[in-house]
Amino acid sequence: MSNSYKLLVLPGDGIGPEVMKEVIKVAKSIGELSKVKFEIEEDDIGGSAYDRYGTPLSDETLEKAKNSHAVLLGAVGGEKWDNLDFSLKPEQGLLRIRKELDLFANLRPALCFESMVDASSLKPDLVSGLDILIVRELTGGIYFGEPRGIEDKGNGNRVGINTQSYSTEEVRRVARIAFELASKRGNRVTSCEKSNVMESGILWREEVSHVHENEYSNVELSHMYADNCAMQLVRNPKQFDVIVTDNLFGDILSDEAAMLTGSLGMLPSASLGAVDSNNFRKSLYEPVHGSAPDIAGKGIANPIASILSFAMCLKYSFNMYKESDLINKAVNNVLASGFKTADLIGDDNKNLSTVEMGGQILNQIKEDF
Ligand code: NAD
Repeated sequence: MSNSYKLLVLPGDGIGPEVMKEVIKVAKSIGELSKVKFEIEEDDIGGSAYDRYGTPLSDETLEKAKNSHAVLLGAVGGEKWDNLDFSLKPEQGLLRIRKELDLFANLRPALCFESMVDASSLKPDLVSGLDILIVRELTGGIYFGEPRGIEDKGNGNRVGINTQSYSTEEVRRVARIAFELASKRGNRVTSCEKSNVMESGILWREEVSHVHENEYSNVELSHMYADNCAMQLVRNPKQFDVIVTDNLFGDILSDEAAMLTGSLGMLPSASLGAVDSNNFRKSLYEPVHGSAPDIAGKGIANPIASILSFAMCLKYSFNMYKESDLINKAVNNVLASGFKTADLIGDDNKNLSTVEMGGQILNQIKEDF
């Protein structure tokens, strides 16, 4: 594999630019330490792109994304753009880039740092050491299925319609990603659907089983109804390793699992697409949180979610496992020392600014490398 990678950084709006500055510092430092060249280019997305190009994602920016090895995104959105036409709203830039890169698998880790055990709403022994990965199908299912709409039946009676539909290939490709990732961690996949009441759920279960039997029989597979999974996540979350599920159930289960681990400012994500002709998988990494307009410009945003998203990039796009683990350990050590940003529970005398938190993590990375 080449050791020169093109990274497109799209800071976006609100706190996006503040946290992405810290990510760029970490990326540059990891590049120097590990002798890997990251060619970093920055561009706009969301409201900032609308202000500059008149559209939340320009064709030129999209082209750059297609030609990059990975895209790192901050966040989009803000009051300033709330009254724009729907098609020009900042969020449309995000939806377009995900769609155009065909990012069909969304990876949401729920990892509980030892130093954050008390921030969870569950008892410490239930979340201590927690490390789950939820793989959510992102481009199919009920959010995209046709027919959809609201039909006026007359006499004040209306019907809202959405269609849940999945094809063989849509299920198989996301299942392969889940099995592949599980084989590099706990080797267990739990597939969630509602095959007791939905035909699309029956198909989902059959196709996941097919991929398992024919390609990944060395990985342990179990099936679970999605409602039971929601319950098990709060009853005994450590029973799970990788959970694979559809777009709708994944939307809900990934948020539920994430909140077991503490603050929104700590949650990374990755979205993966197909492997291209250069044998490279399209990918986009972003924090789960939004542009946080209430704290934008104050220099107090937590950069950890974005820094951990870059750690996911190192692992899933560049196979740089050692460097990825190093970032995770650095974050844990900094938090364990009592340092925090204002959004985290703890001693307010140890509150760091965005830049200070980025600096602490960077120092720790350099020390441990
Ligand atoms: P949000 O995630 O921006 O903020 C929710 C709360 O969490 C706020 O109080 C915020 O201050 C806090 N918060 C979020 N990230 C933080 C961080 N890194 N450090 C410290 N505190 C943090 O969600 P919202 O308020 O519902 O939405 C604000 C804007 O963001 C809206 O325009 C929305 O459309 C957009 N949004 C974008 C994305 C995205 O870009 N992927 C995701 C969600 C929301």
